[in-house]
Amino acid sequence: MQPKKNTSRSRKGKRRSHQAITPPHVDYCPKCGAPRKSHYACGRCGYVNPRVSLPVEEES
Ligand SMILES: [Zn+2]
Repeated sequence: MQPKKNTSRSRKGKRRSHQAITPPHVDYCPKCGAPRKSHYACGRCGYVNPRVSLPVEEES
């Protein structure tokens, strides 16, 4: 089946009013200022929130 009526510009616009994409959120490392994803360790200096403990690698 084919559409019986053309979709008007108005209707098309209303339908697409929900399709906008948002840019990814970027945070900046408080230590070195490099952009990094929030809740991720800094790619340049490895800084993480000091209140969050990460498993420490032990040698031996
Ligand atoms: Zn950093």
